[in-house]
Amino acid sequence: MYARSFGAMRVSVPVIGQGTWHIDSSDRTDAIRALRAGIDAGMTHIDTAEMYGDAEAIVAAAIADCREEVFLVSKVVPGNATRRGVARACEASLRRLRTDRLDSYLLHWPGQHPLEETIAGFEDLRRAGKILSWGVSNFDVEDLDRALAIAGPDRIACNQVLYHLNERAIEHAVLPWCEKHGVAMVGYSPFGSGDFPDPASAGGRVLAGIAQSHGTTPYAVALAFLTRLPGTFTIPKTGRPDRAIENAGAADLHLGAAEIALIDAHFPRGPRPRILPML
Ligand code: NAP
Repeated sequence: MYARSFGAMRVSVPVIGQGTWHIDSSDRTDAIRALRAGIDAGMTHIDTAEMYGDAEAIVAAAIADCREEVFLVSKVVPGNATRRGVARACEASLRRLRTDRLDSYLLHWPGQHPLEETIAGFEDLRRAGKILSWGVSNFDVEDLDRALAIAGPDRIACNQVLYHLNERAIEHAVLPWCEKHGVAMVGYSPFGSGDFPDPASAGGRVLAGIAQSHGTTPYAVALAFLTRLPGTFTIPKTGRPDRAIENAGAADLHLGAAEIALIDAHFPRGPRPRILPML
């Protein structure tokens, strides 16, 4: 599995990880098996959140006998993100995940509590060894500037943001900011959260053609495209073991410049939106 340095943490993390939003709507045994198949295929980066219903408990079952192999990420909702609230929320996530630490802990999106408070809470947890790093999610450049001004350099591990073939807004400013400041960019909803390009559309046919020439699937081609740039990661979600293995395979798929240009032409970046899109 192809891995790269995870921002300022400088630990090696697989470029393709596993999301868990709505994984609790799959049959529980299938969901655990899917995560486990993904881990065995090298997708040891697992993303979850306190907001994702029963997902943390499902992750706990999937990683029970391989916690040391996993790069485990969870998120606090903004409503809990005071200094003390972050500590309480983290303890609850650790309990549900049946572990003693998170590899990274993220603020799910910018919220109403002062960012100084949230970051102070994250730093308390880091000093206590309950989290090894912290990061943010759905942060545009102004939010990132503010976080950097508060925390100083080499503190923000990652920014988790919406990134799929039909939503490339982060390429305008967020991704360059992350590259400049050594912050990992973790793209979420790489398959458009279930709204994948129609195979009958021109773009769908391009993906199918590239997939065929590599003996793979359009989904794998999308993942390879979305992790083509330095410092980028992606976290597809599936509740099916066969699909987890397929998604993991994309880490070894390298697209040529002509293939990238073709995908780029059919799924253009578009103009920079005024507000960073999020789900
Ligand atoms: P996604 O990964 O873009 O798409 C998931 C959908 O694709 C599911 O319907 C899944 O169905 C299907 N799928 C997965 N692999 C497939 C394959 N190889 N072939 C065909 N279909 C496939 O959607 P997402 O869950 O929105 O995003 C991924 C993760 O990002 C989330 O789970 C979550 O961890 C994270 N996220 C973060 C935020 C944030 O605000 N930070 C927001 C949204 C998501 P099956 O399960 O039936 O296979």
